[in-house]
Amino acid sequence: MWSAAFVFTSARQAKSSRLMLTACRNLSWTFLSLTNRRLSTRRTLISQTALCSSTSTFSSIPPSLRLLTHSRSFLSSPQISVPLHLSVQSSSSRSLSYSGHCSEKMELKEVLQVLEQLAPLSLAESWDNVGLLVEPSKPRPTKTILLTNDLTDAVMDEAETMNCDLIISYHPPLFRPIKCLVQKDWKQRLAIRAVEAGIAIFSPHTSWDCVKGGVNDWLVGGLGSGQVSVLNQVLGSTSHSHKLEFMVRSAEELSAVMEELKVCDGGMTLQLSVSRPDSSGIHVSVTCSNSALTPSVQTLLRHTAPSHSLSILKLEKPPLLGHGQGRLSVLDQPVPMETAIKKIKSHLGLSHVRLALGLGKTLESSVCTVAVCAGSGASVLNGVKADLYITGEMSHHEVLDAVAKGITVILSDHSNSERGFLAVFRERLAVRLPDTVAVVVSKADRDPLEVV
Ligand SMILES: [Zn+2]
Repeated sequence: MWSAAFVFTSARQAKSSRLMLTACRNLSWTFLSLTNRRLSTRRTLISQTALCSSTSTFSSIPPSLRLLTHSRSFLSSPQISVPLHLSVQSSSSRSLSYSGHCSEKMELKEVLQVLEQLAPLSLAESWDNVGLLVEPSKPRPTKTILLTNDLTDAVMDEAETMNCDLIISYHPPLFRPIKCLVQKDWKQRLAIRAVEAGIAIFSPHTSWDCVKGGVNDWLVGGLGSGQVSVLNQVLGSTSHSHKLEFMVRSAEELSAVMEELKVCDGGMTLQLSVSRPDSSGIHVSVTCSNSALTPSVQTLLRHTAPSHSLSILKLEKPPLLGHGQGRLSVLDQPVPMETAIKKIKSHLGLSHVRLALGLGKTLESSVCTVAVCAGSGASVLNGVKADLYITGEMSHHEVLDAVAKGITVILSDHSNSERGFLAVFRERLAVRLPDTVAVVVSKADRDPLEVV
């Protein structure tokens, strides 16, 4: 058994990157509309039918193995369900959707399924703590859902007063691992109150940021329509991590090799593609899971023709278009900075925002491009070319860096750049639930900072 490691040279890396981009441009997507009859709402299944691939080489691979410099892969990948319509639906559409379902009881797990349809938790950042954070021991129908940006003592008071069944807190109230549940810690105290009151807590956080039509699309929409792109693209997942390309001399040899490869992969994820035979033999392409890679290579090295022609490629994860952190909009109608400020204050419902004019810019300067990231956006916005950055908070030095590049910065305070989406989401959720469920936006929730 030979051990292997991926080794790139700088030139190879650069070449692979260029080729990967070329492959990305060839992605094709299939959109299938489904009708959810029970809920009378439409959503979209996006099936990605192609993946990018980049080249990997083994440092200790036998010299007989040919090293490829590029390849493309066309595979099926797991599907992801995302909302099709981004617009707010009126309350009248709710009664239309739910005629005949007025007495329907909604269990917590059914609400969670609807939340997953609106923003799959798989879109959340890996460091995040999203999903159901508190689950009551005694199941009860969900009649009242309270939406809040942050779960504070004031919001918990509100939830208890309205006999709330589920709190959807955008920021996760439980984030770091805890070793005890005691009263001296304010977040643990809130978790205890929720458990004692039988209130479930769910947090979507970065899944709402990343999803197409989520918090960041809502935020950038405040300056009007434009060509919107994602700043930090979310990648999907695939069970196929590698592609093995090799030659066989005959159909009989192919059949024998494939039988052995199926054993390596348990017959579960292997995908085969065979070209027409030519004078050199039959070109075979097989994709496999990461766990099946080593036994598959060992199998192929036992056969003469495959061992002399084997190439191994590492497959890239597919981009989920429209999903990711931050947005850049090239505005359809450029506006003076003064107008941009008025628009964003109106969009966020604020009387004041903080402004740092970019070097050489004035209130009359034109805003053609705007980059946004809800919350604390410096890491996402860093290096992005735009006339205007809009986010909740940035440090003093991060603002200075942007201004020196001629980029104007508008800061709203952290949660003020997020909270307005709750009303949009309330409408989106309400039309997907029976009339027995009330969806309410918290009145007690507010940014801890205020202008005085
Ligand atoms: Zn935030």
